[in-house]
Amino acid sequence: MQQEQQQQQHSMELKEKCTGCGTVADLYGSNCGHLTLCLKCGKAMTDTAAPCAECGIPVTRLIRAENRWQGVCLLGVTCQKCTRQKFLESYNTWFLKLLESLKSTDPIFVRAAACASLNDLIVRLGGFIGVAGVKKDGALLVSKLVQPLLQIMGDKGASGIWVCT
Ligand SMILES: [Zn+2]
Ligand SMILES: [Zn+2]
Repeated sequence: MQQEQQQQQHSMELKEKCTGCGTVADLYGSNCGHLTLCLKCGKAMTDTAAPCAECGIPVTRLIRAENRWQGVCLLGVTCQKCTRQKFLESYNTWFLKLLESLKSTDPIFVRAAACASLNDLIVRLGGFIGVAGVKKDGALLVSKLVQPLLQIMGDKGASGIWVCT
């Protein structure tokens, strides 16, 4: 069971460049999870339903991993820049959303971005520790972080996470 989960995580990892042409920007995952493709190469494959070189499954869909990554990054920026009231109203929701990105089988850079954004959130939350309820809430939220973080540190493929910002 555990091994199965690890394999799935591995298969969702994007490589740092397009398997087809070596482009590093605007990368997508193939539906089977083996290939990392730029939009041009990806589209060429999905148009013809070309088979994956590793598993032979036709590539019919591109997974827009980078968009999720950008979304997660933006959330971190929002945590830092929004008004005090907006932050206090929303930090719980944002935290849970980021936590979800941390737990999932997303590519490692999505989880790295979620880590960075969670860090921004917690730093800002620390500034509101005097506000009623924040101290208790904050401690509760941070305690939820421990498990997924331990899991990430235990992942074999996660060694790159700490250098990626
Ligand atoms: Zn390409
Ligand atoms: Zn494949």
